[in-house]
Amino acid sequence: MEVLKKISEVLQGVGTMGIAGHIRPDGDCVGSCLALYLYMKKNYPQIETDLYLEEPRPVFHYLKDIDKIKTQTEGDREYDLFVTCDVSARDRIAVAAEYFEKAKKTLCIDHHVSNRGFAQINHVLGEVSSASEVLYGLLDEDKIDQSIAVALYTGIIHDTGVFQYSSTSPDTMRTAAKLMETGFDFSRVIDKSFYEKTYIQNQVMGRVLAESIMLQDGKCIVGYLRRKDMIFYGVDGKDLEGIVSQLRLTKGVEVAIFLYEIGTQVFKVSMRSNGKIDVSKIAVYFGGGGHTRAAGCDLQGSMYDVVNNITAEIERQMLMEQD
Ligand code: 5GP
Ligand code: MN
Repeated sequence: MEVLKKISEVLQGVGTMGIAGHIRPDGDCVGSCLALYLYMKKNYPQIETDLYLEEPRPVFHYLKDIDKIKTQTEGDREYDLFVTCDVSARDRIAVAAEYFEKAKKTLCIDHHVSNRGFAQINHVLGEVSSASEVLYGLLDEDKIDQSIAVALYTGIIHDTGVFQYSSTSPDTMRTAAKLMETGFDFSRVIDKSFYEKTYIQNQVMGRVLAESIMLQDGKCIVGYLRRKDMIFYGVDGKDLEGIVSQLRLTKGVEVAIFLYEIGTQVFKVSMRSNGKIDVSKIAVYFGGGGHTRAAGCDLQGSMYDVVNNITAEIERQMLMEQD
């Protein structure tokens, strides 16, 4: 669905523009949305641009204009253009979904394989590492200053696990190199936003790893966190990033599953695959979405039901693989 050459193609006659990302915004979501916002402010100051996101995690505080993000809508608005970045489906828009519906023109910039195209214009490249890399392709290189580069770089390192996941391509590296040339402290960006954990976050991760269970002859690992334990440690979903990635690194494992309770008998499920299993198919089956190797969904039921349902689907896929 590569439909645009440059973002300027959709800016004709646009006086107002809204930007939004997905619920529980990750680094790629925050990075791509802010990069587009900063790009518009710098290069198209005549277009009144607003950015709507759920409150980003504090680790992203170094991003310019992070304080300009609107975490709530403000009355009736009809934007000339509304753009979503890193949003895989219409019901994943976090803040300002109503503005998306009302906008004169809508554009979706994304890289989720599960994205079926919910805007008028859908620029969705499922093979590309991150929404930030997709967005980079739509921007003019000479109009990208350091603050825009830092935001895009943040998005790319988060969705590639610092250039490690298979979605990292030579083009990803070329994009990163171009961004790096603007001269920022990339080591600090990587440490501060990706690797650094609070003491409590490390404790919780340690606990989840210690209590994890291996299923399906060690091909599947499951980690979980119950509501009462989240309350005990004083953590919420935002503090749990990185846990499922660590589970995935267990020797012999094909699929890692991490679930935590977001309500009574409601679980947020995160899945990571080492390649053989397409976890996006499993997530889509349960009403979620994502990528081949990283996907998620929300599920209702007891923890045992959730684990049983998910692992049954994984088993089914594993059996189909063998056929
Ligand atoms: P995570 O496990 O880090 O929350 O998410 C991994 C990937 O799956 C991300 O690209 C995210 O957008 C997607 N994802 C996670 N949960 C859901 C969900 O409930 N619905 C959809 N459509 N995508 C999800
Ligand atoms: Mn992304």
